[in-house]
Amino acid sequence: MLSIAAITLLCFIFGAIVGSFLGVCIYRIPMGRYEPVHPGIRELAREVTVWRPARSFCPRCERQLLWWHNIPVVSFFLLRGRCSFCTTRIPLRYPLLEWLTGALCVASYLCFGLTATGYAVFAVLCALVVVAFIDIDYMIIPDKITYPGTALGLIIAAANQRTFSQTSRPLLPYPFVPDLAQAGMGLLLGPGVLLAVWALYWLVRRREGLGLGDIKLLALVGAMFGAEAAWFTILLGSILGSLFGLAAILSRRQSLSAYIPFGPYLVAAAITYLLKLDVLLPHLLFSLDTASPWKMLREPW
Ligand SMILES: [Zn+2]
Repeated sequence: MLSIAAITLLCFIFGAIVGSFLGVCIYRIPMGRYEPVHPGIRELAREVTVWRPARSFCPRCERQLLWWHNIPVVSFFLLRGRCSFCTTRIPLRYPLLEWLTGALCVASYLCFGLTATGYAVFAVLCALVVVAFIDIDYMIIPDKITYPGTALGLIIAAANQRTFSQTSRPLLPYPFVPDLAQAGMGLLLGPGVLLAVWALYWLVRRREGLGLGDIKLLALVGAMFGAEAAWFTILLGSILGSLFGLAAILSRRQSLSAYIPFGPYLVAAAITYLLKLDVLLPHLLFSLDTASPWKMLREPW
């Protein structure tokens, strides 16, 4: 048996490799065929999708990277942060993304263990990270992630309901919803409330106060994790968005009417909910007994 420390290290390495792939998704998904290419994006000589070309390339000189340019976390240091062909600076976000995804993988393991729920939560966290970064870059939340995600939430709810009626255990326990009724509640209460806000803002100001993409993102959270998760995400997301927005306005980096992407704050709030960071962080900061809060999380419905 591997020790917890060894599994934690393996989880970090696995997460960092996944994070490297997420960097590819964030760069390539908005270039896909189903959504218009953002005017800010530089035209590339070849057609690019998430899977094609299979090997990564430098977006500046378009040369295919060598194997040792591609090692998560490590390569950035080996290359001293520059493309080895054209010496263009590699954005700091790539190693940061690998560290972040590695940390999220470790947190999923510590919260849910090596269980189906643990793997599923990590997959959702990855999708949320991709959504947040694409929203920062292009001010869009891709339907390619929110629509299948919402559908998947409903499928998980139906599967949970069915397996619970047969074996009195859900297929994917907490934090996933146990039945279709709760998924429906999450779907109605989360995006429903935001839709009301969207309509009200439209009536008063005659323009969109928040994007419909944010509402679709809430639909994903509500369908998968229920009304409580959706409410938590709206509430904490709004608080974080207001605080950072206010800071940006006060430091005069944004005007009062500037559009600020709301997706990253919703994502940060959803991640906080899923990993119970609002409970864990104070525990980890103020108590030496680090084992107890993790155990607390593994409660069934
Ligand atoms: Zn290059």
